[in-house]
Amino acid sequence: MFLKPMDTAASELLRHTLLSDLECPVCRQYMLPPISLCVNGHNICKSCKPNMKHCPTCRHPFTTIRCLSLEKLAAELDFPCTYQTLGCKETRRAKLITQHQALCPYGTFSCPLQCRVRLSREALVKHVKEKHEQDIHEWNERVQYVKIQNYDVTKNYTQVILAHNEVFVRSIKVINDIWYFLTQYIGTEKDPGRFYYTVSFDSKDHEDTFIKITHGCRSANEDENEIYSTCKCIMLPVEVIKYTVVDGELSYYFQIKRKA
Ligand SMILES: [Zn+2]
Ligand SMILES: [Zn+2]
Ligand SMILES: [Zn+2]
Ligand SMILES: [Zn+2]
Repeated sequence: MFLKPMDTAASELLRHTLLSDLECPVCRQYMLPPISLCVNGHNICKSCKPNMKHCPTCRHPFTTIRCLSLEKLAAELDFPCTYQTLGCKETRRAKLITQHQALCPYGTFSCPLQCRVRLSREALVKHVKEKHEQDIHEWNERVQYVKIQNYDVTKNYTQVILAHNEVFVRSIKVINDIWYFLTQYIGTEKDPGRFYYTVSFDSKDHEDTFIKITHGCRSANEDENEIYSTCKCIMLPVEVIKYTVVDGELSYYFQIKRKA
């Protein structure tokens, strides 16, 4: 038997119908695997699920079951870039679209300093300079001595750093007795890991360097919690470096470099 191939218009129509089935009912973004189910079979995306106590459609609880049929379908489709309305024409498979979006030239970035507005990189730099002057640091290549007064391990510390004519976000956070030092790059450079940061601590008597660690920067459009859970930043047990907090002040050396 001979099956007539679908014409382009018909297959585009089918693709759009399938894509609309993959829209998350909460954020309206396309659901990419893992896609979760509620007890009545409604779906939700992986970003919205942790923020919802129950299914937004029927108000019943979610299950731990994944919707494998929808995930399989998602794997076969080309997804438009989330910045489509801003002019991006890229489409990619589910596995690759998030990678593209993290570095899409049309991409926007949310303000890392609480207000969370989404802006283009240029607009974000302007916004941060106007609204968060105290949390912005203009640095060069040199090693910087960082001091955080009244350091509180239960708090997260976020600062915007301007260096190498680029914009970075530096976060310090403690989760389950592990100290996470993360630096994210805000921009569309293909490889954020071309920028790397070094964190080092003096020994107790300040005679020597006790520990010095270097790590590549991550994109600011990567999910912070996913970076922490997959260990893609500098991590140190609190026990090992807690001596560096003296009279409530945390101090360490920090540097951002660009690979040649
Ligand atoms: Zn969602
Ligand atoms: Zn439901
Ligand atoms: Zn794009
Ligand atoms: Zn802001």
